[in-house]
Amino acid sequence: MEGKALSDRAVKPAEAAEQAANGRQGMIYLTRRAEFSASHYYHSPALSAEENQRLYGKCNNPHGHGHNYVLEVTVRGAIDSRSGMVMDLKQLKEILRREVIDVLDHRFLNEEVPAFRHVIPTTENLTVEIWHMLAPQLEFCELDRIRLYETPDLFVDYFGPGQAAPPGAGQTRAKD
Ligand SMILES: [Zn+2]
Repeated sequence: MEGKALSDRAVKPAEAAEQAANGRQGMIYLTRRAEFSASHYYHSPALSAEENQRLYGKCNNPHGHGHNYVLEVTVRGAIDSRSGMVMDLKQLKEILRREVIDVLDHRFLNEEVPAFRHVIPTTENLTVEIWHMLAPQLEFCELDRIRLYETPDLFVDYFGPGQAAPPGAGQTRAKD
């Protein structure tokens, strides 16, 4: 879906200026994708039963419903001149499996994942939680972005606490 952008290798002046403004010059961004399936329901104790129903609709059903989530984890760093890599890709895959996929895959998030006992497991909150699962485990590079697709047409981006998102991030994009 980003084929056009990838084949156009020339960096336009406006793009270079934007990268410089974001402190991105000279940095490598590496993304690994993983999938997991999980079920959840939405209910806010801060709202009445009627308000929950109105806001969340079918998603308020306490028996839950499932999604096949697609997770993209982007790390950034400099290229190590000895390995030619930003980080050991096998290590990234292993950390992602151990810290995130094994914890969330085939779980009823509200009941089985302690982080969501008191936090509504929306895609937004899942994205923040995944950041906090991963960030302390990445020693050799920095976590740049968590992108989580709830469906192919809906995703959420999170760039960590206290960081502004670059323009155009986190927007739902119609497939072409
Ligand atoms: Zn849902």
